[in-house]
Amino acid sequence: MKQAQPVIEQLTVLGVGLIGGSLARALKQAGAVRRVCGWGRNQATLDQALELEVLDAASIDLAEAVQGAEVVVIATPVGAMGEMFTRLAKVLDATSIITDVGSVKGSVVEAARQSLGPAFARFVPGHPIAGTEKSGVEASFAELFQHRRLILTPVEETDARAVALVQRLWEAAGSEVIRLTPDDHDAILAATSHLPHVLAYALVELLGGTEEKRRMFSFAAGGFHDFTRIASSDPLMWRDICVANQKELALAVRQYRDALNEVLQAIEKSDTAWLMDMFARAKLARDTLLPADARFSSPE
Ligand code: NAP
Repeated sequence: MKQAQPVIEQLTVLGVGLIGGSLARALKQAGAVRRVCGWGRNQATLDQALELEVLDAASIDLAEAVQGAEVVVIATPVGAMGEMFTRLAKVLDATSIITDVGSVKGSVVEAARQSLGPAFARFVPGHPIAGTEKSGVEASFAELFQHRRLILTPVEETDARAVALVQRLWEAAGSEVIRLTPDDHDAILAATSHLPHVLAYALVELLGGTEEKRRMFSFAAGGFHDFTRIASSDPLMWRDICVANQKELALAVRQYRDALNEVLQAIEKSDTAWLMDMFARAKLARDTLLPADARFSSPE
């Protein structure tokens, strides 16, 4: 995957954690970027990223960090992105392209539209469908995006050349790039990612809520581990996603509650035919529709 010429000279990553750090690593490994600069709130995080050679340079001064960047990627939690757009609008170079990796797109696009002014045309919203339940730059790795999908959600105003450049970078990182509208993205991810995370948290909370119930954890088998692995994800990240994708997630939770009510009725009535049919349909759907390697990372 080594490239003869870098795609860009300088990338600046705002928020050098699992995703920002992994993108920096992937692009450096692919030879797609000559220099990666980082910005963060904490000098200690930046020092760690420099030590791990994820970054070539770093600054806690935003203006300094974005200077000379052809592409600036915002990789902070979704709840911090509004403030990042406001601050960026004041310091961004006139030609820099901005992109993000946030797990929700509609509210992020609206925040960018409100704050970026003319630079909004150079904002290319993105979301890698790749991740793990770990956080921080120490958990980052170059292969995270390989053979994973990356969703871009450009809008009418988005500059086509900016979209093409961001697409080239993600392809260099090993991703398959697809495009959706922000609304389609948020509806799909609410059902396939945000709902499962909320369910995993709720199940662990249900069983972990009291001392007596906590004893049950020692009896947990593979199913419980599989189902709840993602409840080890960062609580702040998921708090932000629930707020940012409130409408679609609330709809998905209501639909799931209705589905559970049907299961409850079948159990209470010992309706074996209904249970058998439903389980068989669900097994067939999972066995035939889910990509075989989806277990290796949690689509966020
Ligand atoms: P992470 O590992 O916790 O990294 C987040 C980074 O943002 C850290 O460098 C953190 O550094 C910084 N940060 C946190 N709060 C901030 C704030 N208020 N202002 C400025 N910087 C802040 O999280 P991540 O998993 O990489 O997630 C980053 C983004 O990627 C999120 O928007 C998430 O929705 C999206 N995403 C995550 C996954 C996943 O599986 N994790 C997958 C796809 C997309 P300091 O705390 O040192 O400031």
